Amino acid sequence: MNTVALAFDLGGTELRGALVERSGDVIARVSAPTLAGAGSEAVIGQIITLADKLLKQHPQAKVVGIGMCAPGPLDPKAGIVIGPPTLAGWHNVPLIDILSRQFGLPVRLENDANAAALGEWRFGAGRGTGSLVFVTVSTGIGGGVVADGHIYHGRRGLAAEIGHMTITGEGDRCFCGAIGCFEAVASGTALGRQATRLTAPGDGSLLRRLAKDGDISARHVVEAARTGDATACRLVEAEARWLGIGFTNLLHLYSPNLIVMGGGLANGFDLLAPGIRATVEERAMQAYRDVPIVPAELGDRAGLVGAASLILWEGEPGTALAMVQNDETRSGAGGQDEPALAPRA
Ligand SMILES: [Zn+2]
Repeated sequence: MNTVALAFDLGGTELRGALVERSGDVIARVSAPTLAGAGSEAVIGQIITLADKLLKQHPQAKVVGIGMCAPGPLDPKAGIVIGPPTLAGWHNVPLIDILSRQFGLPVRLENDANAAALGEWRFGAGRGTGSLVFVTVSTGIGGGVVADGHIYHGRRGLAAEIGHMTITGEGDRCFCGAIGCFEAVASGTALGRQATRLTAPGDGSLLRRLAKDGDISARHVVEAARTGDATACRLVEAEARWLGIGFTNLLHLYSPNLIVMGGGLANGFDLLAPGIRATVEERAMQAYRDVPIVPAELGDRAGLVGAASLILWEGEPGTALAMVQNDETRSGAGGQDEPALAPRA
């Protein structure tokens, strides 16, 4: 039996677990609806139950550690889930401490979008590239940046919260409280909301028929656009333009070799791509226009395999993570929080 990692992807609606090999192959998967309203102890109980199930399926598995991803904000280095809006009762939960004590194994924690970026970079659409930006567009918009061979973390691991970059001065209020966030105008939720506003129950439109006269979702818009429905096609065009504007910002900020788009709306990537491309051509400076924008390849296992790779790839000589770790070790001794320009005593 090969060496494997236990991997968990803690979401606001679903908790997923897997056993993952070093190749990124998932040899077992389990999931449960997250007890999101029940507080951290209940959910940690679910993690333990799922781990038992996985290990029963593969009693010979040589588990070397646990890679875990959860919604931000979280501090990957300190191993603390700070307070995700989708999970009630999680305030500064020291998840790495709790799980490593429970299982007696090394545990690594990463923001879910960063873990998915790692997964796509190591095993999916971004294999072999040095820098990429991963953007997940579904209920919200999240992202992760792999820069020069490692995840870009920033202060407290909070970097690349790209859903909340301000992209316009008007429109609906974002759940974060601000107006004009990328997420507020371009998420799947925003797309569905626009479609719902443009139509009315019982108006006979294809969009409303697909939604059985209820609220329209992004999935319905993509489905209707595939049949050539004029309203849906206009909505897809507007959506592609917002995505193109956001992606142009990301190109200018990070200069990646590749932008990878995942999340539920990636199901409509083929419909969105021409509009995204046209907007980037129009708005990005010349030197950034030829960067490929591609759909994600790993679907909902990107976070799991990315989290597992934190355990399975860690410390291998010559890997980016080994380099990051060395940096951390070095700066840990010298007080990395000192201002870079502090006068020398
Ligand atoms: Zn926001």
